[in-house]
Amino acid sequence: MKDKPFSIAIDGPSGAGKSSAAKAVARELNAMYLDTGAMYRAVGVYMMRNGISLDDGEAIEENVSGADIQVRFENGVQKMYLAGEDISEAIRTPEASTAASKVSAVPGVRERMVQLQRSIAAGHSVVMDGRDIGTHVLPDAPLKIFLTASSQERARRRWLELQEKGANQSYEDVLADIRERDARDCGRAASPLRKAGDAVELDCSRMDLPAVTREILRLARERMA
Ligand code: C5P
Repeated sequence: MKDKPFSIAIDGPSGAGKSSAAKAVARELNAMYLDTGAMYRAVGVYMMRNGISLDDGEAIEENVSGADIQVRFENGVQKMYLAGEDISEAIRTPEASTAASKVSAVPGVRERMVQLQRSIAAGHSVVMDGRDIGTHVLPDAPLKIFLTASSQERARRRWLELQEKGANQSYEDVLADIRERDARDCGRAASPLRKAGDAVELDCSRMDLPAVTREILRLARERMA
C-alpha cells in the first residue's frame, strides 16, 4: 500500500468536517492532501476582484481562463496563489465562501478545476476532498467516502468555530448559509453533490474527528491491503 499510488475521495456537504478528516488521513498514510474547495474559492476571489457579477454565469465562463491560479505545497501545506500572490487567507472569508459556491456552478469553471485537480494528483497517492471527487474527478478511486451530518449539527460546529475566532454571526445566520450552500451544491446541473454509488456513507453527527479518521483509515487499509 505504501509503494503503489492510491487515491481516496471524500465528498459531502459544507461543514461536515471533510477537510479535517482528509488531512488527518493523508498524514497517516503519507499521501498528498488536496483541498479542491480552495480552488473554487480562488476562482471566486478572482471574479470578485475583477468586478464580475457572481450571478452572471456567462461572464464567469468567459473570464475564467484569465485567472492565473496556482496550487503550491509549502512544507506540506497547500497554498493558493492568484497571479503570483498568496491568497490562502483571502479565500477563507464568508464572501469568498459564497463566491466559491456560486462560481462552482458554472460548467467552464468546473472543467478547468477538474483538469487541474487531476494533473496535480497524477502519479501521487492522494486524499482529495470536495463535492464531485468520487462521482467525477476520481471515479476509479478504490475508497470513496460520503461524509454527512445534519445541517443543524454542521451549523452548530461552524458557529462554535466562529465564536472562538470572535466573529459574532448568529447561529440562525450560519444555519441559513449552510442550507443555501447545500441547495446550490445539490441543485446545480454541473456535477451536483451526490453520493457515488460505490461510496461509503459516514454520518458524523455523533462522531468526533478521531472517530471519523479511524473509520476512514480502517476502510482504507481494508481496501488496499
Ligand atoms: O469545501 P469548501 O467549502 O471550501 O468549498 C467551497 C465551495 O466550492 C463549496 O461551497 C462548493 O460549492 C464548491 N466546491 C465544489 N466542488 C468541489 C469542491 C468545492 O463545487 N469539488
